[in-house]
Amino acid sequence: MFNFYPGPSKVYPEVRDYLTMAYDEGILSIPHRGERFVQMMRELVGLLRTKLNIPQDYFIFFTSSATECWEIIAQSLTPHKSLHLYNGAFGEKWCQYAKRLRPDSYGQSFEVEDVLDVPNIPVEDDTDVICVTQTETSNGTQVNMQTLLRLQNQFKDPLLAIDATSSMAGLNLKFIRADIWFASVQKCFGLPAGMGILVCSPRTIQRAKALNDRKHYNSLVFLHEKMLNYQTAFTPNVLSLYLLKKVLEHRPLIKAIDQHLVQRAQELYAYFEEFADVPLLVENPEVRSHTVLAVKGQDRWIQEIKRQALQQGITLGNGYGAWAKNTYRIANFPAIADQEYASLRSFISTQYR
Ligand SMILES: *Cc1c(COP(=O)(O)O)cnc(C)c1O
Repeated sequence: MFNFYPGPSKVYPEVRDYLTMAYDEGILSIPHRGERFVQMMRELVGLLRTKLNIPQDYFIFFTSSATECWEIIAQSLTPHKSLHLYNGAFGEKWCQYAKRLRPDSYGQSFEVEDVLDVPNIPVEDDTDVICVTQTETSNGTQVNMQTLLRLQNQFKDPLLAIDATSSMAGLNLKFIRADIWFASVQKCFGLPAGMGILVCSPRTIQRAKALNDRKHYNSLVFLHEKMLNYQTAFTPNVLSLYLLKKVLEHRPLIKAIDQHLVQRAQELYAYFEEFADVPLLVENPEVRSHTVLAVKGQDRWIQEIKRQALQQGITLGNGYGAWAKNTYRIANFPAIADQEYASLRSFISTQYR
């Protein structure tokens, strides 16, 4: 079975062994205030820094999901309102969540083919956070590091928050170009769903302390206070933490993973472009995602190719949001082997002329 679903996605095959190891090592029922837990967390945080290139002065927290991170940002860092720049379903959903908690929050949508037009973004007074989805999993677009730099230079005061759910652990993100980054583990980390990772700049923590939101179990100041001792505010998913640590131990540095993925993405895009009758959803190479590809077609035909693929043991990702019916998606995540893309290509070749 080949699984190209962009989340939950293929887990590393090694996870099978790590699960047994977790049991055998007796890690599954350790107390989360104990020595062993703290030691594991300390190692895990160190590994995340080294392997993903997270700056030493940035803080790392563990949550239950990326969605929880949306909520934490609204609760703990947004006294007035956040601005949401989006071109797809996940960015829009984030905006809707924020609006429910902070009704003055507002969205600014842009076109799938467009690079964010930074100089002309209307930012209202009292905007606490500017929110951007780095890889929009629903349509296979991305906001590149250059654009983040422009945003950072243009808007000095608001915090810059980046949803990197489908790129963290896949792409070499420049963490210093934003204040808040988050992801969940079922995408590029190649792990079973159920945990999120939140990365915050020193400035973010200063703001959280000044605002001092303590109304929620997951208030950022609580996460911060506990994490100073490598602990969590609530009993965490120790198995997920363990699996993350084991996977990271055996992964190369992010620079190498990024190079591999970017090259593989370029090959895949070039491959699809060779077929005259296969439109890619995103035409502008500048905004095409390196980790999620979306292929467009007539509704009936998309349904048919997914069905044919399944018969060959290949799972293509369904479309999502506005593109649910007229696209299928292909994850380009690190846990999927090159060999599997060779199989995908030979299947695709039988489907198109
Ligand atoms: C998958 C995804 C989410 C949601 O992740 P959860 O773990 O379900 O909270 C949010 N944003 C993006 C861009 C995603 O791809």
